[in-house]
Amino acid sequence: MTFLYKADPVRGAEWAQLFAEKAPELPFHIWPHVGDGSSVRYLAAWTPPEDIAQRFPNLEILFSVGAGIDQFDMSTLPPDLPVVRMTEPGIAAGMVQYVTHAVLGLHRDSRIYARQQRDQVWRAHRVRPASACRVGVLGLGMLGRAVLQQLHGLGFPCAGWSRSAHQMDGIDCYSGSDGLRDFLARTDVLVCLVPLTDDTRGLLNGELFAQLPRGAALVNVGRGGHLVEDDLLAALNDGQLSAAVLDVCETEPLPQGHPFWTHPDIVLTPHIASMTQPDGAVEAVLENLRRHREGLPLLGLIDRQRGY
Ligand code: NDP
Repeated sequence: MTFLYKADPVRGAEWAQLFAEKAPELPFHIWPHVGDGSSVRYLAAWTPPEDIAQRFPNLEILFSVGAGIDQFDMSTLPPDLPVVRMTEPGIAAGMVQYVTHAVLGLHRDSRIYARQQRDQVWRAHRVRPASACRVGVLGLGMLGRAVLQQLHGLGFPCAGWSRSAHQMDGIDCYSGSDGLRDFLARTDVLVCLVPLTDDTRGLLNGELFAQLPRGAALVNVGRGGHLVEDDLLAALNDGQLSAAVLDVCETEPLPQGHPFWTHPDIVLTPHIASMTQPDGAVEAVLENLRRHREGLPLLGLIDRQRGY
């Protein structure tokens, strides 16, 4: 019985060390050193091999090393194989830092002052209170809720949108397609933290941007597939949107010469909003292995029907 890891090898070496300390009885292999494929019972991967079913006929659980599973081609997976996403707390902590930094940067005019410094211009712009900047988060899951709690604490009027109805202290919660219009109409900074599914692909499009107040800003930390790139450029160029902070793009790495690289109102980062931390990840995986042994429900189990 072996545990196979197939993702970033540097962090994989840290996983190996933690497994050796915490679960020495379970042999831990790092791709491509698979050993006997029929003894692989657990696979932690960013992208599993295409022939996963043939290669690992006795696989019992597939773990994603990330919080999302949209990078998995579900059609290649055995239909009954449990798929588990990563829920270790370091992911939420990193996301809270990134989105808080992005929202504060937009609110406190970071781009304007960076340009002014480049041009050696000393000019003060009015400082507005946080209460004047309404933040709206698409997605009220593990990450959206953590982000909203932090931003609410900083004094931003906060709202969230999800598929099913939620309640959160101090946060205005909207749901479903009926709730989306009202949610957008009260949102000055829109943060995307829904998973990428058939229902959410292309959600960030011109029709949605038109429902935001004029001059609103976008922070996309979901997936590149949520955004219709040409619609973003059109909305920025005609002033419907004032700025976009993008951590994810449809094609990653973003191709050389892509208009996003040089757009004055786009801030780009290379998909680093948050990263799975090996110590938390190994804790989360070992907890799920214990639950699996004891027949308890797995934490972060994906509902294949729903797509997340
Ligand atoms: P969760 O599964 O915990 O939460 C997803 C939320 O999105 C839920 O509130 C869900 O609604 C809502 N949702 C899903 N589909 C729809 C829909 N069609 N309409 C409205 N709401 C919808 O996910 P996480 O919070 O853990 O992660 C969100 C995403 O963040 C990941 O899937 C990943 O793509 C991205 N991510 C990006 C990272 C980066 O570095 N840029 C790092 C980590 C994650 P409901 O509550 O009703 O189910």
